[in-house]
Amino acid sequence: MCIGLRWQKSKRDSFWRDDHHDTVCCIGLDAKGDLATAVSSSGLNNKLSGRLGDSPLIGAGSYCDNDVGGACCTGIGELAIKNAAAFAIVERMRAGVDPKRACDEILQRIVKKHPEVKTNDKAQLAFIAMNKAGAVGAVALRKQKTVFRYALARGTSAAPSLVEVKTLIAS
Ligand code: ASP
Repeated sequence: MCIGLRWQKSKRDSFWRDDHHDTVCCIGLDAKGDLATAVSSSGLNNKLSGRLGDSPLIGAGSYCDNDVGGACCTGIGELAIKNAAAFAIVERMRAGVDPKRACDEILQRIVKKHPEVKTNDKAQLAFIAMNKAGAVGAVALRKQKTVFRYALARGTSAAPSLVEVKTLIAS
């Protein structure tokens, strides 16, 4: 086995110990009322070659239904994939739940299924969502080195405001 592959394999478990995450999430609602989501990611640090993260999987890292709303994720992609996180958030919005509560509910559901993320202070998962009316919500599992913020711009002339994202776990 080549040195590079051996090193990667030794790092495999560090998915859950590395607080680096960098998926850029974007949700847009245009003047005609059409919605779109987009995500861009280099994937988790130390991933094995060939790993497919949540970002390219519709329903996991992002999902958009033009009748309802859109949602995007950053953090441990495996959690978003196993729980169809973005799809689940949009489905809660379809049921009439506002975007912030939809994000909270799905993060709570995932934490209940994967309680190990509660005690691992490197584990992170964060969501942002917008509904057809332009209401926005977000949540992150925990504060880390940087506080999660999203930029919110309404109209074409207003400068975007930075909104701090509340965390599920206080510490
Ligand atoms: N969600 C990405 C992945 O699992 C990682 C990230 O957000 O940086 O590939």
